[in-house]
Amino acid sequence: MTSSDDQQGFPAQQQEPPGLTGAMDPVPDHGERSYRGSGRMDGLRALVTGGDSGIGRAVAIAFAREGADVALGYLPEEQEDAEETARWVREAGRKAVLLPGDITDEDTARALPGRAADELGGLDVVVNNAGFQMARREGFEDVTTDEIDRVLKTNLYALLWITQAALPYLGEGSAVVNNSSIQAFQPSTSLVDYASTKAAINNLTVNLAAELGPRGIRVNAVAPGPIWTPLQPATQPPEKVEKFGADTPLGRAGQPAEVAPAFVFLASPSDASYVSGTVLGVTGGKPVF
Ligand code: NAD
Ligand code: MG
Repeated sequence: MTSSDDQQGFPAQQQEPPGLTGAMDPVPDHGERSYRGSGRMDGLRALVTGGDSGIGRAVAIAFAREGADVALGYLPEEQEDAEETARWVREAGRKAVLLPGDITDEDTARALPGRAADELGGLDVVVNNAGFQMARREGFEDVTTDEIDRVLKTNLYALLWITQAALPYLGEGSAVVNNSSIQAFQPSTSLVDYASTKAAINNLTVNLAAELGPRGIRVNAVAPGPIWTPLQPATQPPEKVEKFGADTPLGRAGQPAEVAPAFVFLASPSDASYVSGTVLGVTGGKPVF
């Protein structure tokens, strides 16, 4: 349960992408005061892309409290958010590594796993969490190639590049956890490009699980519903933000802290030792099939 259990929507607000945590009203709950670890990831080394804020920050905090060292990918303009996440990881007694860089650039994306492995002494878990969307008011025919490029390169190309580059470091017991979305199952007309990348992520999750299973590497995805993160005020119109999450069966948006345990479960070599090729919904009750 979080501090915003009775919350219906949010104050109208807007930010420029990628959005920063401190400018949000209310500031999200990343589990800072609630997440309790129990050694499920003792000694593991994890890369979390987009680990500065939102779901990525909650995952980094949870992983650290479960005993993992964490490398964080993020955009250079998110330095203050990344440093705050790193502070929580270090407070949990674990190592935090900061790896700024724009992963729509192939060389930058491909370099991430190696940089993480160098600093952490290896790599066991890759969380492909970085993502971008931009809600459109106009019709689909007005979307530009630059806009499509940014969404597809961030959500899909970078995920493929980073996973490829991570494979030399991963072995028996390793895990890849991708961040999908309810948008893969119930696409919004304002998010045609974004929703299509999330459907593709589900598909490649199942397919990579098949290819990498014989090497003992598990591949899964989490499909969040509406979660209160900087992505929302940075990419949705203020009137959508006000009602954000109200259309779920649970009647509210989720907090990043409520998504992180799904990533811990799928990353944990003990809890999820026989779980691969699955997409786990954390949607406030919306169906993921
Ligand atoms: P967020 O803004 O906190 O996190 C997204 C992160 O992606 C950013 O912090 C940024 O570091 C990273 N990123 C974006 N473009 C990048 C680039 N070019 N190079 C490097 N890093 C880049 O928002 P969030 O909601 O926590 O998003 C995390 C993931 O969750 C995304 O994949 C998103 O699609 C997914 N998701 C979010 C929701 C939601 O309602 N918030 C729902 C379903 C899925
Ligand atoms: Mg951010």
